Amino acid sequence: MKVILARENGFCFGVKKAVELTEAAAEQGGAVYNLGQVVHNPIISERLKSKGVEVIGAPGEAPEGTVVIRAHGVPPAVRAEIEERGLTCIDATCSLVIRAQRFTKQLADEGYKVIILGTPTHPEVVGLKGFAGDDFVVVETKEEWDKLPKMKRAGVVSQSTQPPWAFRDLVSHLTDISQELKVFNTVCPVTVKRQHAASELAEVVDTVIVVGGKNSANTRELVNLVRMNGGTAYHVENEAEIDASWVAALEAVGLIGGTSTPMETLLAVKERIESIAAAAAA
Ligand code: SF4
Repeated sequence: MKVILARENGFCFGVKKAVELTEAAAEQGGAVYNLGQVVHNPIISERLKSKGVEVIGAPGEAPEGTVVIRAHGVPPAVRAEIEERGLTCIDATCSLVIRAQRFTKQLADEGYKVIILGTPTHPEVVGLKGFAGDDFVVVETKEEWDKLPKMKRAGVVSQSTQPPWAFRDLVSHLTDISQELKVFNTVCPVTVKRQHAASELAEVVDTVIVVGGKNSANTRELVNLVRMNGGTAYHVENEAEIDASWVAALEAVGLIGGTSTPMETLLAVKERIESIAAAAAA
C-alpha cells in the first residue's frame, strides 16, 4: 500500500499566524480567549486549552485579559466592543481577509450593491457583512444568484475559500444583470493551490482521505473536488475516524488536509492507514 501525500499540505500562513499569536499570548500569562475556535482541529484546540486558552463566542464572555481575533476576522462592531470593554485585542485576521474587508468597504462607500459569494453563517462572511453597508446580499449557489434582480451598480467579493469556478460563474451572471460591475477577486490563492493539489491527487488514485474539521469550508471543498473528479473521498478529522474497510484492500490512497489541518494530524492519519495495510497483508 502506498500513501501518496498531496503536494500542498499543512497550515496556510493565515492559520499558522493565528495559532502562533494565540500561543505567544498564552505564554505571556493572564487570561487569553480565542473569539471562536482558532482552527477547527481537535489537536490544536486541546493544545491551546492545556495552555489556558479559552474559546468564547462573544467579547462579553471575557471578564478580563486578552482576546485573540482569529484568521476569519470579525465585523468592525465586534472589534470595537473588545476595545470598549477594556480587553487587550490581538488581531490575527489573515492579511488576505483584511484585503477582502477593505474591498467590501470600498464598494459600499462607492455606492455599489455588494454581492458576497459565500456561506452566510461562515465567520469570515459574518465579518465581511459588517463592512458591506446597508445594501448587500450573500449568495452561495447558482439557484440563489439566478434570483438576483437586475441592478444598476453591483460590486462583488468572495469568501476566501470559495472555489474559483463559482466566483467566475457568479461574475459572468452579474455581467448579464448589472449595468455597471466592479469585481474584486478575493478568492484565496493558497486554497486554490490546495484545490489543484486535490484534483491532481484524484487523477492518480481512486480514493483520497481528506483530513480536516467537519465545519472547515476549505476542507469540504477538497472533498467536493475529489468527487467531482470521479474519485472516492472520505472526510475525517483524525486517524481514529479511519474505517479499515475503506483502505485495507487498496494499492494506493491519496492524503490531503485542509489549510487548518496541522501536519502532525495528517502524519498520524498516514501512520494509521499504513498499519491497517500492514495488518491486512499479514
Ligand atoms: S485560507 Fe487563505 S485567506 Fe484563509 S487564513 Fe489561510 S491564507 Fe488566509
